[in-house]
Amino acid sequence: MGKMIRSGHRSSGHLRGHGAKLVSADAKDLLLAKAEQQQTQSQLQVEHLRGLLAREKNNSRRLKAIYQHCPVGYVTLDEKGLITEWNQAAAEFLEERKRPLLGAPMTFFPVREDVGQVLDHLSRCKQTDGGQVVTELRLKRSDGQIPVQIVSVPFHQGDKVFFQTALIDLTEWKKHESALEESKKFSEAIIQTTHEPLIVVDVNLRIVQSNEAFAKLFKLPRRLAKSMPLEAVLNLWWNGNRLRQRLEDVLLKKNAPLNNFEFEVQPRHLGRRIFLFNARRIRCAENSPPALLIALEDITARKGTEEKLAQTNRQLQLLNNELEKRVEERTRELSASHKQLEGFCYTIAHDLRSPLRAMAGFSAALLDDFAPQLNGRGRSYLEKIVGAGEHMDRLIHDLLEYGRLTTIDLEKKPVDAEEVLHSVIKSMQPAIDEKHARIDRKGKLPKIYGHKAVLEVAFSNLISNALKFVPAEKSPRVTIWPEEKDENVRIWIADNGIGIEARYHGKIFEVFQRLHSRDAYPGTGIGLAIVHRALQRIGGDVGVESEPGKGSRFWIRVAAAG
Ligand code: ADP
Repeated sequence: MGKMIRSGHRSSGHLRGHGAKLVSADAKDLLLAKAEQQQTQSQLQVEHLRGLLAREKNNSRRLKAIYQHCPVGYVTLDEKGLITEWNQAAAEFLEERKRPLLGAPMTFFPVREDVGQVLDHLSRCKQTDGGQVVTELRLKRSDGQIPVQIVSVPFHQGDKVFFQTALIDLTEWKKHESALEESKKFSEAIIQTTHEPLIVVDVNLRIVQSNEAFAKLFKLPRRLAKSMPLEAVLNLWWNGNRLRQRLEDVLLKKNAPLNNFEFEVQPRHLGRRIFLFNARRIRCAENSPPALLIALEDITARKGTEEKLAQTNRQLQLLNNELEKRVEERTRELSASHKQLEGFCYTIAHDLRSPLRAMAGFSAALLDDFAPQLNGRGRSYLEKIVGAGEHMDRLIHDLLEYGRLTTIDLEKKPVDAEEVLHSVIKSMQPAIDEKHARIDRKGKLPKIYGHKAVLEVAFSNLISNALKFVPAEKSPRVTIWPEEKDENVRIWIADNGIGIEARYHGKIFEVFQRLHSRDAYPGTGIGLAIVHRALQRIGGDVGVESEPGKGSRFWIRVAAAG
């Protein structure tokens, strides 16, 4: 146990108060230990404070570096507005290389007209209770003047006040601002010059802007139109729900423009009007609520004309129906009388043949039986009578055939054209042999969709003409080939004959159109008309390519079989 040094009191206060008193040896040790402990604690505190100081210094160095190299120009102004400190950006901005900045008054830097603004800025800085003071002015520099914003915040150092002041270059911003202004003017000019009434309305469908055309149509000067509800201008109070809904949809939904929405309104002063509404969502400025650009097209007059036109069309349709009915009736009457006439002609033609045959027959018999009793003239007369009788018989036969083709039913079906051609050539073989003719084939004919009898008529007429219209000294040569095109087939029949002048290419398909005398080339002039009519009846056609002396190439066009 420690030794007692005289007094029983242990407290240090007591010890300090009575330093001269004796204390025990134990108490002394205790005191010493405490003192040591205190000393260590103080040393630790000193260490801690040193650390803090060092960190503080470090921070302040870092802040200084940031301040120095920050891209925004900073100056510190004293109460008189003299520069006491600045960073690199400010040095460049204020052109330090030309004039020293330390102690320079801030009023030294703006253009002359803006010096007052600096003074005003400084006086506001003194009055502010810690808030920012902002001023825009123009700084003069060797490369001209530049717009800047100066922003100052006061701070105290000792008993003095300073103003930390940022210098913000507004050149780029001003450029954007003026570009924005320009584009605003540009769109305003477009809006104003367009002939179509245009308005911009806000989210509450109140007019924000309108153009001259709108003012003119609604007799509403632009300044009066401003902030008027669209509903009031269009007088939409009770019937405008559908339009209102559509416009609100455009406002709310992105990319949902309103296109050519037809709507009838009754604006006061204008009466009933039909407008086409076109609307697009737009933003007048960044971060502003959306607005609507609405174009109105007054189509009342057009609608009126359309209605009148529709009415006229309806009347015309009625007249047309009436006319069609009458035409139908007349056609029916005509076709009945036509049929009657055809029947009549057929009967006549048919009935003409028997007396004609009797005449021809008896003339032939007279020639056979009584030739020796007749002199040369008599015989020649009789021969002419026989010839004329035969010709008339052919004529009547051809006319009957032509008439028959006009009236008979021609039901179309698939036909093997090759087979038909083959049998026609076979039936014509005696004539072919007699003329020493040659028929060449280039390719087999395909199946067609038509009528067998029509094909027979076409082939036999065209081939017999090809054999007939050839100069006497030449042997006829006929070439036949098919040409398939799209859904049609052309069948060509070419000869080496006398050819046909281009001006007759259409004529020869009409009845009784012949280009030569019967003595030179016999015939009735009906064959090609029959071919033409027959092909027409099945939706086909016939034509020719030819030149005198260079032969002819006749073709028929028929539908290909599926
Ligand atoms: P037809 O042969 O009985 O005279 P068509 O109606 O068959 O009557 O022919 C009309 C006319 O067309 C003929 O008279 C002839 O002048 C001309 N023609 C027809 N086919 C040919 C042909 N292959 N070559 C030259 N001319 C022709």
